[in-house]
Order: sequence, then C-alpha cells, then structure tokens
Amino acid sequence: MPAKRKTRKAAKPAATKPRALDPRKAYAELLERSRRRAVFGSMGSVLGWDQRTYMPKRGAKHRGEQLSLLAGMSHEMATDPRIGELLACVESSGLVKARHSDAAVNVREWRRGYDHATKLPRKLVEALSRTGSEGYNLWVEARKSDDFKAFRPVLEKLVALAREKADALGWKERRYDALLDQYEPGATTKQVQRLFAPLEKELAALIAKIVSSGKRADPSILENVYPVPAQEALCIEAARAIGFDFDAGRLDVTTHPFCSTMGPGDVRLTTRYDPASVWGALFGTLHEAGHGLYNQGLDPKHYGTPRGGSISLGIHESQSRMWENMVGRSRAFWQFFLPLARKTFPAALGGKDLDAVYFAVNESKPSLIRVEADEATYNLHIVLRFRLEIELIEGRLKAADLPGAWSETLQKLLGLKPPSNREGCLQDVHWSGAAFGYFPTYCMGNLYAAQFCEQARADLGNLDAQFAKGEFKPLLGWLRKKIHKPGKTYRPAELCEVVTGKKLSHQPLMRYLKGKLAPLYGS
Ligand code: ZN
Repeated sequence: MPAKRKTRKAAKPAATKPRALDPRKAYAELLERSRRRAVFGSMGSVLGWDQRTYMPKRGAKHRGEQLSLLAGMSHEMATDPRIGELLACVESSGLVKARHSDAAVNVREWRRGYDHATKLPRKLVEALSRTGSEGYNLWVEARKSDDFKAFRPVLEKLVALAREKADALGWKERRYDALLDQYEPGATTKQVQRLFAPLEKELAALIAKIVSSGKRADPSILENVYPVPAQEALCIEAARAIGFDFDAGRLDVTTHPFCSTMGPGDVRLTTRYDPASVWGALFGTLHEAGHGLYNQGLDPKHYGTPRGGSISLGIHESQSRMWENMVGRSRAFWQFFLPLARKTFPAALGGKDLDAVYFAVNESKPSLIRVEADEATYNLHIVLRFRLEIELIEGRLKAADLPGAWSETLQKLLGLKPPSNREGCLQDVHWSGAAFGYFPTYCMGNLYAAQFCEQARADLGNLDAQFAKGEFKPLLGWLRKKIHKPGKTYRPAELCEVVTGKKLSHQPLMRYLKGKLAPLYGS
C-alpha cells in the first residue's frame, strides 16, 4: 500500500513545510494508522485479560512492564503530529461533507481522540497514572481497615489532578462537563441533572410504596448448594440462548467480572462462582454477555476505525442492563429458563415455583452497597455519587467532608445510614483512579436500555411471548441493526433520537419499573 511508504517518511521530524496533501491519500493514511493502532492496542487487551484470569501472581511485575511499554507506544502513535496534518487536510475537503458518511464519522472521532491525547501535558498524564496506582493501593488498604483518614490525602490529590485534567481538556459551562464528556461524549452536567431530578423524585415515591406495602419476596428460597461445574454449564447455556457466539468468544473466571474484546471474532466474558448461590454468576454472565453481544455485533468491515467501534459507556451499559434485567429478570425469560435451571440443579430448584423465583430475583429494597442493589434503588446510588463528585470537582465539598456528606445524602435518598465508611464512601474503586465522571453512565445505561426496550416492543410485537419460547433472535437482530452495526455513526444522544424518535428521558425507565414492581408489591 502506498500509504505505508508515506507513513515512514512522515515519522522523520520534518521541519520543512508539508507538501500539499491529497485529501483522499490523507484519509487512506489515517485509516491505515487507525487500524494499525487498534491491532496494536488489542495486544494489550490479550495481556490485560490474561492478567485478570490465568496469570500466576509472580508474573505481575513483568506484565506491568509489558503493559506500560505498550501504553507508551500507543500514546506516541496517537499523538504523532502527522495525524494533525492529515486531519487538517481531510477536514477542509469534500470528503466529510455528508455528516454521517463513514469518512465524516471517522474524521470527527479521530479529531476528538487526537485533541484529547494532545491537550493533556505529559507531566499531567504521568501524575494521573502514578497517583492513580498509589490511590488504588491505598484504597484497597483503607477499605479493608475501614480507615478513611488513610485514603483522604491521596483523594485530595486525585481531585486536584482531575480538576487540572478538566481544565486541560477545556470546558464552557461547568468544569465537570469535561470529565463527563470523556465517557459520554456530548453529555453535559446540566443535561444529566435535568434527567436525574425527576427520576430521583419518582423513584423515591415508588420505593416508599414498596417499603410500606408490607409485601416481601423470599430470597431464601434461592439459597442452596450449587456445584460450580454445573453453574458454569448453566451460565454458558444462558449466554448461548440469548445469542452469544461461543465460536467467537469464551467464558472464564475472575474476581471482578468484565468483558474484553481482542478483535473481531474474539470476545471474552468473565464471571465468578459462589457454591452457595448460582444467581450472582448467572446474572453477572448475562450482564457481561450483553456487553459481549454489542462487541460481537460491531461491523468487522470497519474494525479499527470509529465507524466500527462502540459509542460510549452509557450505550454499552444499556446493552448489558437490557439483557441482564429487562430480559434476564423478566417473568417470560424464567418461563423458558426455569425448566433448564431445574434440570441442572434438581435438588436446589426441583420444587421451586416460577412466581416465587421470579419475585425472589426481583426483590427490591434499599441497601447500602451499589453493586448489590436492585433495579430500582440502584439508580439512587448513582444519583448520590453524581451529586457528590460534582461537589468535589467544583470545589464545594472538601475530601475530608466526604464521609459526612455521603451519610447525609444516603439518608435522604434511601433512608439508610452507613455503619462504616467501608459500606459508605470507600465501597467503590472508581475515585481511587481519578475516574470522576464515570458513575452517571451506569444510570444513563438504565435509561437508554428502558427507552430502547420500549421501542423494540413497539416494533417487534409481543417480545414476552418470544422470550417464553426461548426466542431472542428478533430482539438481538433489532439491536444489531439499530445500535451495534452503526458503530460511532451518531453521538449517544443522537442515536437515542434516531432509534426511538425521542430525546432520552426518565419516563420509559419509570414505566418499566412501575410495570414490573407494582404487581409484585401490590402497590
Ligand atoms: Zn457493565
């Protein structure tokens, strides 16, 4: 390919004025560079996956060196000034005229990536990485010993660095906008606050009704002995049933489940097993398989370019939440799946009734820990974190006052007071790595999932009748076409309007939650 020769030449620090570029050739070179960088990055994915699944403990130091070498080289590739020249040439050409053409989409996203990578001074990137790993180690210890004071100094540093990062990236209205935009391109603090405010109010009313209904699920019917090999078989069966392709993926064991993509045809899911309960592993697998289905559905023809990539964390989470909750916790799914689960665990589930199992897997009650929260209360855990991290980033809340603010806000939102910081502000890993702006994407994922699901039901007819027969292809085909295949063609908010005809709103999620929980709790 001629583009290769050009790349070599460009790598020399040519101080001379660049010859006039041909936009088509410039675009071809950008494509080539983008694909090579994706293949390069995917080597890091294999190493990262291995690190979290099979690598022996003593391999950690060398793996760290491998990964940091790759990260450094990848950063060099991303910030090569040649990219700036090529982009400038293509941007002023007719190639990008049609806003949603492959070329326009790729150029828009390459520009975004290049600006992000070059706006951050090297010193800041290094400080973030160093303080992030220091923060992680201190957080692990502080959480273990429930010692917020030990974590506070590094948290102060992390907040200061995140503010510096926001300023380097640039923002117009709110400093937090710059941090949010890293994970949910185009979203602003104001928009998210407008989405969350009515959600918070309506959820509070729904949860109050549930609490005062006096009706309770009996989750103890789910406690039993579930041999791990059979759990693994059932998890694979569930992921395969919803359409995950095991010729293009795997399921392995890890401590903190995740989904990682090596490239087209290779998507890795992970889960963890508890012999006393199959439920965490099963719903965890459905969640990660939802992420995996998205990645398996990206267009391989566009691999390594934005056009073939996923949009945002919020949209990714909408896929995992939809399969885990809106499908996997539906009564129709259990009509289909309970007979299979009974066959796998005859002693534990043999005599269990569909309605009792359905109620038990949908139990809703205020609790302290986000990752264990049910579909309704989960969103208030996010509202709390969103509110506090804005206060931290905008300087109205001092790190030292975080435990008190956490406790007070949790009492307001869920009527609970955390008995310790371990079960309060030290429970999540995110802030220890300066990942401010990440939390709201979880709740946005729920909102997107509900809005997409409502539209799919309108387009596809009686989805429940299909789920009850184990038919998930119509829904998956719909998601493939509307959400997976378009890649980054649209920004998240735009995709929502294209797919559903409406702006993202809290209403579909509220309709969904009320529709499910009101009959269960008789409220
Ligand atoms: Zn997820």
